[in-house]
Amino acid sequence: MTETAILDHYVGGSAWAGTSTRTGDVYNPALGTVQKQVRLATASDVSDAVAVAVDAASSWRNASIAKRQQVMFAFRELLNARKDDLAAILTAEHGKVISDALGEIARGMEVVEFACGVGHLTKGAYSENVSTGIDVYSLRQPVGVVGIISPFNFPAMVPLWFFSIAIAAGNAVVLKPSEKDPTAANWMAELFSEAGLPDGVFNVVHGDKESVDALLSHPDVAAISFVGSTPIAKYVYETATSHGKRVQALGGAKNHMLVLPDADLDLAGDAAVNAGFGSAGERCMAVSVVLAVDSVADALVAKVSERMATLRTGDGTRGCDMGPLITKVHRDKVASYIDVAASDGATVVVDGRGIEIDGDPNGFWLGPTLIDKVPTSSTVYTDEIFGPVLSIVRVEGYEEGLEIINASRYGNGTAIFTNDGGAARRFQHEVTVGMIGINVPIPVPVAYHSFGGWKASLFGDAKAYGPHGFDFYTAEKAVTSRWLDPSHGGLNLGFPQHD
Ligand code: NAD
Repeated sequence: MTETAILDHYVGGSAWAGTSTRTGDVYNPALGTVQKQVRLATASDVSDAVAVAVDAASSWRNASIAKRQQVMFAFRELLNARKDDLAAILTAEHGKVISDALGEIARGMEVVEFACGVGHLTKGAYSENVSTGIDVYSLRQPVGVVGIISPFNFPAMVPLWFFSIAIAAGNAVVLKPSEKDPTAANWMAELFSEAGLPDGVFNVVHGDKESVDALLSHPDVAAISFVGSTPIAKYVYETATSHGKRVQALGGAKNHMLVLPDADLDLAGDAAVNAGFGSAGERCMAVSVVLAVDSVADALVAKVSERMATLRTGDGTRGCDMGPLITKVHRDKVASYIDVAASDGATVVVDGRGIEIDGDPNGFWLGPTLIDKVPTSSTVYTDEIFGPVLSIVRVEGYEEGLEIINASRYGNGTAIFTNDGGAARRFQHEVTVGMIGINVPIPVPVAYHSFGGWKASLFGDAKAYGPHGFDFYTAEKAVTSRWLDPSHGGLNLGFPQHD
């Protein structure tokens, strides 16, 4: 048997093996084979990495804003120049097709560009003469060491959402990426070193629950940014806040797209297919449920099926539209919902099992699947399936559609398709979801707005990136200052008032 390569941690500016003897398999999902091992850190490895980060944070916080901006710009330029190399890593470990991998990098790079504006975004405010001769001003300081725990489905973009802003704001980072596709994290950390980031400011520790738990409870970690499934997000939020940390924990989703009778059905058909099957449905902003108003439902299902017939599923390096799922276990779980749908009385319009694949037969394949007339009582509707399974739920009209969306436990993204501006405006006002698309199926906000859902899709107050990102990674101080002049206020034991 040939030995597989082992991916080390990246700590203090170089690869580091740590002390653990445990490793995890990293697959190529398009081939179904293990391509490397990744180290799984112990709690003591995490502690060592945090100690390196604490040390680095103490000087990085004092680096001038100009210096930090220069490093951010250099990182952005290197990332842009070498994005094809990173995209190849994403495709090899996640399976998403190359064009989608490049899209993920572009959306992550937007946040790096936004973070280059750190000088403007961390400015405080100044009020002169709040009382005679007294000024009040606020300033924002880095919180220290930030722990970032990221999911498998965006191995580059989600870490970029967080570490770009945390580092620009003057913090040091310990990133624990998904153990399923971990290589992108090391690649980005090495690139940051090349861009001039001091050693120890950006560290990567690989692992599973043991390393996550160590970060959540470590006394020197000030803030935790987590993205993953809802049960883990809730656990992370509760555990880390109980250890006194500020926490943002983004969870799972079940995103609905409401199609009203006056919608452009060709636009809606394209949107449902793009948002349902892009990245094999492994996106937290994927559309997984189309709420079709009865009068147009048959026409919409026909348009969606026609478009699905043109999709090519296969190896992401071969110009296909859709790649494999992340693991065999996940593929089998997603596929099992097709039987559940049939037994719950839904109609399986397109069954993705056993379709022709442009790739190795051992890959973790499941073709695009369309299920109509899904009852909202079925687990096909209630569970986050996270695969290429698009459900159609038929509704009588706007009111019923809105009611279904607002009853969902998730509130990440949603979309309405209509040509009625009044209906769209009413929808944005009434829907209990954090990110809304109007004739736009995947409404991921640009980097200068913030990203985050409501309800079980986000635990904590701070969304990712945008203004929320800088607020989350900095602590505000308010200073009340008086420089002595010859006058003297005298004694006054009352609560300070202004005159
Ligand atoms: P996951 O919850 O299985 O894993 C996320 C991270 O948590 C990984 O780093 C993993 O190692 C760690 N982890 C797993 N089990 C753990 C445990 N028991 N204790 C502590 N840590 C644990 O999620 P995933 O399968 O990697 O990613 C898919 C999920 O992420 C989906 O639910 C998707 O909706 C969600 N997601 C949400 C967003 C968002 O912005 N809301 C974005 C991307 C993905």
